[in-house]
Amino acid sequence: MVAYHKNIQADLRKLHIIRYPAPELREVCTPISDPADPSVSALVDRMFKLMFEAGGMGLAASQVCVAARLFIASPTFDPTDRRVYINPRIISTSGKVKVKEGCLSVPGISIKIRRAPKAVIEATGLDGERFMEKAEGLLALIFQHEMEHVDGQILVDHMGWFEKLVHHRVLTELRELSGLELSGRSTASG
Ligand SMILES: [Zn+2]
Repeated sequence: MVAYHKNIQADLRKLHIIRYPAPELREVCTPISDPADPSVSALVDRMFKLMFEAGGMGLAASQVCVAARLFIASPTFDPTDRRVYINPRIISTSGKVKVKEGCLSVPGISIKIRRAPKAVIEATGLDGERFMEKAEGLLALIFQHEMEHVDGQILVDHMGWFEKLVHHRVLTELRELSGLELSGRSTASG
């Protein structure tokens, strides 16, 4: 796992979206001490590029292997709709709704999850200012999904035995793929 550091620009091009069962997805991320530092906006730019390329509407730093409390969102999937949440904290949620959710780090699987349709978040922006935002619908759901990433949880944790059975083949394939990537890497490094 790449810890967040000020020289992260040098590593930006190497960043990519990691997938289940990568252990880095399980890490509880650490706060960013200087959200207004240019290195944070450089990281955010790279994350937006990766997220839009992958067709996602939300992405947490832990999904690109950076252990920082940060996520981005674009609920309209419009490239000009760029929302950034640094050191985020969900203040309140209300209501209950069952929604189908997927995750860029667990491709090929979507499951029904109970979420709150309304959420209030507090976070810091790239300008270093703390702000509060009330969200309803999709954005509220993104808040809850991404906050779980920030705390080292993923979609698979919501799956019961039945869903694990239904998605057994995809989960097995993802595990096998990660094994191949690992062995490929060790071969390459000699
Ligand atoms: Zn996700």
